[in-house]
Amino acid sequence: MNIILLGPPGAGKGTQARKLVDERNMVQLSTGDMLRAARTSGTEMGKMVAAVMDRGDLVTDEIVIGLIREQLESDNPGGGYIFDGFPRTLAQADALGRLLLDMGENLDCVIEMQVDDDALVDRITARATCKDCGEVYNDNTKPIPADGKCSNCGSSQIERRADDNEESLRTRLMAYYKQTSPLVGYYYAKGDLKSVDGLASMDEVAESIARALG
Ligand code: ADP
Ligand code: ZN
Repeated sequence: MNIILLGPPGAGKGTQARKLVDERNMVQLSTGDMLRAARTSGTEMGKMVAAVMDRGDLVTDEIVIGLIREQLESDNPGGGYIFDGFPRTLAQADALGRLLLDMGENLDCVIEMQVDDDALVDRITARATCKDCGEVYNDNTKPIPADGKCSNCGSSQIERRADDNEESLRTRLMAYYKQTSPLVGYYYAKGDLKSVDGLASMDEVAESIARALG
């Protein structure tokens, strides 16, 4: 089964993707994570996208489609793919459709995670992530352990993202509404869309997603 998690920054796509990876043996493909990895390892591409990402704008379709293509060519998981943060434009959605078709694969479901803007600002400005395992912390609901070590993997590298500040977030939200939200209509028209309430608790959201996937 191949699915897309669609929703604004802070909707909880990464958190739910991680649950699906654990429970259904799926593979998470997050273009945001791939771009951050390119920055950390200091590749030419990583240097090119750094300022764009910190500002909160989208990087070019060419770059992210290339990243996804490489991944799809390199591994073939039994449980299928979770696309997280991709596609974000209609051109990316078309490219993904073609890539899957070429592999003889289908897109089975697009889950739209609905969250209002105030909640997004609160969530993102309170967010921190373990650099080693991706565990997500929140100052209000799931604070970083007092010893500063990740409760999941023990790493002491829990960090805040450079773009998790109010100004970049405004740009990211604008990019979502202008460039990404048209995908809701696009997938609705194709009959692939299921919407869930992203404001519910983490477990409730996971249950709604499980129901949507059948
Ligand atoms: P969030 O969903 O919380 O905004 P991501 O980790 O998915 O965060 O993405 C972080 C940044 O990486 C985006 O603001 C954008 O600059 C870039 N990015 C990630 N995925 C894409 C994509 N599919 N197309 C264009 N830019 C992307
Ligand atoms: Zn960790």
